Amino acid sequence: MILGALETGGTKMVCAIGNEKGEVFEKFTCPTLNPGETLETIAEFFENKNIEALGIGSFGPVCLDKKNPKYGFVTSTPKPGWADTDVAGFFERRLKVPVGFDTDVNAAAIGEVTYGGCQDVDSMIYITIGTGIGVGVYIDGRLVHGMLHPEAGHILVKRHDKDDFEGGCPFHQSCLEGMAAGPAIEKRFGKRAETLYDNPFVWELESYYIAQALVDYCLCYSPRRIVLGGGVISKDGLIEMIRKDFTKLMSEYIQSDELREIDKYIVLSTLKGEQGIKGCLKIALDARV
Ligand code: ZN
Repeated sequence: MILGALETGGTKMVCAIGNEKGEVFEKFTCPTLNPGETLETIAEFFENKNIEALGIGSFGPVCLDKKNPKYGFVTSTPKPGWADTDVAGFFERRLKVPVGFDTDVNAAAIGEVTYGGCQDVDSMIYITIGTGIGVGVYIDGRLVHGMLHPEAGHILVKRHDKDDFEGGCPFHQSCLEGMAAGPAIEKRFGKRAETLYDNPFVWELESYYIAQALVDYCLCYSPRRIVLGGGVISKDGLIEMIRKDFTKLMSEYIQSDELREIDKYIVLSTLKGEQGIKGCLKIALDARV
């Protein structure tokens, strides 16, 4: 079965042709310009590829409520030109195939449970820490949407007592994304995160904020595993610091087999950056029925 996958991002669009086994045969990447031009370029890539369905993992916020006329739209994004853009509807009309639509992080979560290291669990969360922070939530065998979709990258965190950075989020003074995403590190220290690997204070703060968030997610969503992805997390040793801070903050409040093996509870993605695009293949597969 030939399926199309599209991961839309603030800076680039990743398109792929693959199958129901999560195998990717062909990939195409283009920059995210204005919606008209960008969606057209993507449609031209998918045309004549004989895809049976398209799965989209989109940057947001998006509308996922199928009863809402704005279903499949990117809604209130500050990205110039993209607010109120009908993404799913455009491809449905243009490609005349079923189109599945979800957030980019939900796509990564479903990629992990379908093809990656979470095939053995029915509840997990996926967190990406990069230019932004997003959380995909998969509980009791399905992705969580609710009112909108979780925007757990913006939960408020307690400020580190040695951190006087005002925060990088225009909406909140000290939310996780504003304190710990790549741009927050760059704004606070004046250099990009990957040039700060030998500055231990950077990573002490990073672990401190991320661990707080993971404790909150663990308490609220009760996932059986937490998967971390995104550029910032690739710093060597950071995940070990996060596990340690998490264990300290949780303070044995939750007693479970999963938390007793913290190395298997908080893990990195096994899909080498392909969790999102593979998840889009699964979203395409599910759109067919
Ligand atoms: Zn925020």
